[in-house]
Amino acid sequence: RDPRSETPPPGGGLRRLDAEAVRRDFPIFAARSEDGRPLTFLDTGASAQKPKVVIDREADVYSRSYANAYRGVYQLGAEVDDAIEKTRESVRSLLNAGSADEILFTAGTTASINLVAQGWGRKFLRPGDEILLSVLEHHANIVPWQMAAQATGASIKWIPLTPDGRLDLSNLDQLLTTRTKIVAVTGMSNVLGTIPPVAELAHAAHAVGALILVDGAQSVPHAAVDVRVDGIDFLVFSGHKLYGPTGVGVLYAKAELLDAMDPVFGGGHMIATVGTTGSTWAKAPAKFEAGTLPIAQIIALDPAIQYVKELGWDAIHQHERELLTATHDRLAAIDGLKILGPAPEHKGAIVSFVMDGISAQDIAVLLDLRGICVRHGHHCTMPLHDWLQVPASVRASFGVYNTLGDVERLCKGLDAVRKRLS
Ligand code: PLP
Repeated sequence: RDPRSETPPPGGGLRRLDAEAVRRDFPIFAARSEDGRPLTFLDTGASAQKPKVVIDREADVYSRSYANAYRGVYQLGAEVDDAIEKTRESVRSLLNAGSADEILFTAGTTASINLVAQGWGRKFLRPGDEILLSVLEHHANIVPWQMAAQATGASIKWIPLTPDGRLDLSNLDQLLTTRTKIVAVTGMSNVLGTIPPVAELAHAAHAVGALILVDGAQSVPHAAVDVRVDGIDFLVFSGHKLYGPTGVGVLYAKAELLDAMDPVFGGGHMIATVGTTGSTWAKAPAKFEAGTLPIAQIIALDPAIQYVKELGWDAIHQHERELLTATHDRLAAIDGLKILGPAPEHKGAIVSFVMDGISAQDIAVLLDLRGICVRHGHHCTMPLHDWLQVPASVRASFGVYNTLGDVERLCKGLDAVRKRLS
């Protein structure tokens, strides 16, 4: 029997995720519980912990099967090439992309968005063109577009929010016009947890001849995505938020876009020919993968993908919803605490909040004394915090290893914070 999930009930009901068993797959939880106090890790939105299969695979690359990629004809080199292509195929299958050549490896979400903003944006944006962003966006999906706009004379427009922190699409036809060349939106807010209607936006963008980029940094680790069904042109995410290694990210782009885009980094591996008077490019993905790739990290991303797939998206979804609704219910009962953003049915497993008269930093520091890791600050979303009219918030973000016990410890910790400081 799969130790991580209970067997399906007779009649084929939903397989449930056994979070206690999942925790045993992540060595850090045992390693940090030596004093008997469990590690309450509620900062998966910043970076996820790693299961042993990922840690072992990365170590195994360096111990048994390491060489540079795409360079040598010798056996070791060929093993590395095959392993990288295996991950590329796993990412293709994860996103249901049409071809593995549409999957590029980058350093992360930030690098992927910069690659699109420069390789596509600087080539195709013109003065008068518009880039449509939402107020929810992480700085990684704002600043590269501001840089591209500055370089090309394009301008940026903003999709506003409803009072509860969802995208306000009531005036979409005025925001999204034939001047719009790209819509760049998050698949899930890293602060409010809001899940925008990506397929609807893709449809609307295409209707005016615009493209859509989805920042999947937060959404890809929590739900199945299908770039073809949703009509997504560019999708980006980071390995480290998907229980994989740091230093590796993904850019999915439709083949014809990769053909049309300029490479951003020049160097080894990305060329077809190099002469003293100029060079020509290799085809994608090599065209965008100049220099030595993060080899071991790419290879160890594969077991991370297999791990979440084996847990099952339905089981992950059901488990995280349980945590989310329990957190909402419990936090709502704490005096002076305000949850930011929409009701659980419109969001993923992230809960941000503020407390009357108590700074976000004080809350985070006091929770840490109880072994509870939460993030405080603006979470790289200053425009969103301006809209929220708070300088900072506290964020609890959940992963597959979190339990209702974690929710209980968070809420008890917050009760204690309130008693001590208000
Ligand atoms: N976009 C979103 C929604 C994020 O939450 C993050 C990271 O927190 C990023 C982009 C940037 O990801 P990375 O730092 O891995 O490049």
